Amino acid sequence: MTQINTQFYKKQAQKAICNTVLQQALLDLQNRLGPATKAAYNSLAEGPALRKTAHDIRMHALENLDILLETLAQKIRQQGGHVFFAKDGETATNYCLEVARNLNVKMAVKGKSMVTEEIGLNTALMRNGIEVNETDLGEYIIQLAKEGPSHIIAPAIHKTRKQIGKLFSEKLGIPYTDDPPTLTKAARRVLREKFLRADMGISGCNLACAETGHITTVSNEGNIRMSSTMPKVHMVFMGMERVVAKLQDHDILFRLLARGASAQNMAGYVSYIGGPRSADQLDGPDEFHLVILDNGRNKILADKEFREVLTCIRCAACLNVCPVYGKIGGHAYGFPYSGPIGAVLTPLMVGINKAHDLCQGETLCGACRKACPVDNDLPRMLLLLRAKLADGDKDWEVERNNPAEKIMFMAWSVLIRNRKLFDMFLRAGYWIQKVFPRENGLLKKLPLGLNGWTASRDIKPIAPHSFILLWKKKHR
Ligand code: SF4
Repeated sequence: MTQINTQFYKKQAQKAICNTVLQQALLDLQNRLGPATKAAYNSLAEGPALRKTAHDIRMHALENLDILLETLAQKIRQQGGHVFFAKDGETATNYCLEVARNLNVKMAVKGKSMVTEEIGLNTALMRNGIEVNETDLGEYIIQLAKEGPSHIIAPAIHKTRKQIGKLFSEKLGIPYTDDPPTLTKAARRVLREKFLRADMGISGCNLACAETGHITTVSNEGNIRMSSTMPKVHMVFMGMERVVAKLQDHDILFRLLARGASAQNMAGYVSYIGGPRSADQLDGPDEFHLVILDNGRNKILADKEFREVLTCIRCAACLNVCPVYGKIGGHAYGFPYSGPIGAVLTPLMVGINKAHDLCQGETLCGACRKACPVDNDLPRMLLLLRAKLADGDKDWEVERNNPAEKIMFMAWSVLIRNRKLFDMFLRAGYWIQKVFPRENGLLKKLPLGLNGWTASRDIKPIAPHSFILLWKKKHR
């Protein structure tokens, strides 16, 4: 799912706002997880300050990424695994296809992985005749519905259980029910059979560790463990930024990841995987492949001001508190990464001009940073992206926004810092606004250039006297 343009963003956002069922789902999600995550951080023995430690761990890893990746690759190879460095999505999918062809893979089971969404892996595999089955329940639902994820860890959050009941009845041929345990059992029955038949297991990777040479996967359904151990080959896709130096770093990051993602102390299933099954092991794949993906991350890493965005561990806590995501949901972002993290990461990956709506659509309220388990300063980077849009930037190939906008804001800056000028401006506005249509004392429509403010709401007119003037009069 990659559809990024202003028209799409506005249309999808409007559609989401008018969808009362989605609005309720988003409200429930944010009311439940927002406060619960905060409480979960407070319940840590180290308190929320542990987020700062996690930030330092992630930044340290990014600053030593070349060494850590090389160490990781070396250890995995020593343990019998294969490691492939992919510069972009196409190279990564081609590698996977080549391995699949060599092993005569006809069917794959897949654990939830945002990085494979990013590169459109499923489409590429299916185009080449390989059946791909998502095994995370949320991903399975949206795969049946032929939709993209609308949340990083709750991909089917936009669907009601009635809609899911109808979908399962149509696609799986079971009698209609909206009872969640019955629906889950139906999915499990289908997926168990897929696990047993699959030739290849595909997963993402939550983190990797250079010290021990393993990747770690986390899930609450146990499906990744089955995808990674039952088929004869396990293929892992990992964003190159996901490695950290030491095993003890994992402990801190996973405690925070579970809290940020779902306000849990720890996820249900955590697997440490460092290669294929050894001769004395009963379970596990015969082949293990780790694909380490760049796809624009190197460029971000090289920019000291944007490097921080790569500290992200994809927990989605920022989505669960963001007022914009809470209204427009995930599909409007047009790319798998939605919410505040998507608003920073997507422009850097696909082009700042192309995805300008994403960073300009956020409110800069700062809630995302406070909720983030690794204290990722997304508001700072949102502002930086906007500055690049205002001024242009050669390194990021950004073309300036309309220069008139910058002139207007400069004039506004002069105006609001000069009391006399500002009062004159208000007074002029007060008289000019009289010609605009009103209803119930509110302005219905502003003229061209300002009409965006009244496109979906009426606004209060400028008062005849400013608060300061009234205050002065009262206390004269
Ligand atoms: S930016 Fe922080 S809160 Fe948002 S997904 Fe990444 S780690 Fe989670």
